Amino acid sequence: MTTTSGAPPIAFLDLPAQQKRIGAKLKQRVDAVMEHCRFVLGPEVTELEEKLAAYGGAAHCVGVSSGTDAIQIVMMAENIGPGDAVFLPAFTYTATAEVPLLLGATPVFVDVDPETFQIDPVSLRERIEKVRKEGRLKPRAIVGVDLFGLPAPWEVLRQIAAEYELFLMDDCAQAFGASYQGHKLGHEAVATTLSFFPSKPLGGYGDGGAILTNDADRAELYRSLRTHGEGGTRYEVLRTGMNGRLDTLQAAVLLAKLEGFEEELIRRDEIAQAYTAGLEDIVATPVDVEDSQSAWAIYSILLRDTDERMETQARMKAAGVPSAIYYPLPLHKQPAYRRHHDGVALPVSESLAGRILALPVHPELTDAEVARVIAAVRG
Ligand SMILES: *Cc1c(COP(=O)(O)O)cnc(C)c1O
Repeated sequence: MTTTSGAPPIAFLDLPAQQKRIGAKLKQRVDAVMEHCRFVLGPEVTELEEKLAAYGGAAHCVGVSSGTDAIQIVMMAENIGPGDAVFLPAFTYTATAEVPLLLGATPVFVDVDPETFQIDPVSLRERIEKVRKEGRLKPRAIVGVDLFGLPAPWEVLRQIAAEYELFLMDDCAQAFGASYQGHKLGHEAVATTLSFFPSKPLGGYGDGGAILTNDADRAELYRSLRTHGEGGTRYEVLRTGMNGRLDTLQAAVLLAKLEGFEEELIRRDEIAQAYTAGLEDIVATPVDVEDSQSAWAIYSILLRDTDERMETQARMKAAGVPSAIYYPLPLHKQPAYRRHHDGVALPVSESLAGRILALPVHPELTDAEVARVIAAVRG
């Protein structure tokens, strides 16, 4: 396929190029698993858990089967279920809301900040107060999401969680590698959940996830829940659990990827800075948040309206430059979720969904490709 400029199209995510770059390490790691054949909870899982815990500044890490299962295990450990309200941003990936619903709890959608796209503390307080006043649901938990790789406002979230005695968790699926107040994310909340879906900054070659925590009792509970609720011995079942383990092969892939992870984060940041410098005079670019360093899972610009977004996307496509929309609908407007919503307007989430546009930001992009992306957006 060629484009109007004659240049080959740019990839939104370039896993083949990445695989070429880390190929030797990867082969070595995968071959080792093929040798020992401990495909479930093999030594690579333990090694990865230790490395991720150290990286995220947490005492414990439990490798699980996906970012979604990580959220589920954390919520199951808190006995979140029918009658419970779980506060979460309306502008996030579906998994954040899906899990409380699966467990019989009710997601309460919170609006987000128009500049950072992160959960808005003012809206959060309003939503908690409303649930308390109505008295139908019991406020139980807040899920902070580090959307697009940028840390959520953790200091304020911790204050609000303490004030209302709510469980606080970090859906860090998009932001492992990001920094907040000078340290890596991984211990901002009681539990931090990670995803290794291939498109995440630390992506595997299939599904995978992990839970970080400083609480030894919770870590033990998470380990039990990921293996059918098993107790101290193999066939003792203490609680209803699930099959939620991280595969050894995924752990092997992730160990190989972890070696070059810091350099990838630096490259993502370089690309993001270049986009901002090249575009900030014509569109709204991501804001700098003091004391926060994004992992740049996603770099999104904001257009004036949906028409301008459509025109921009079409122009980019013609130039061989891909784009994506995260997310075209806020969760409280989704067909599956809107009946769980109390009808309150969440104007920022609704407006963002119609105007936001993501540019490719993967670390394999060349400077020439970055320049092409900027030129295509500018038109
Ligand atoms: C990707 C993602 C998840 C789910 O992770 P999976 O590994 O795909 O299950 C959860 N929350 C957010 C915010 C995500 O981006």
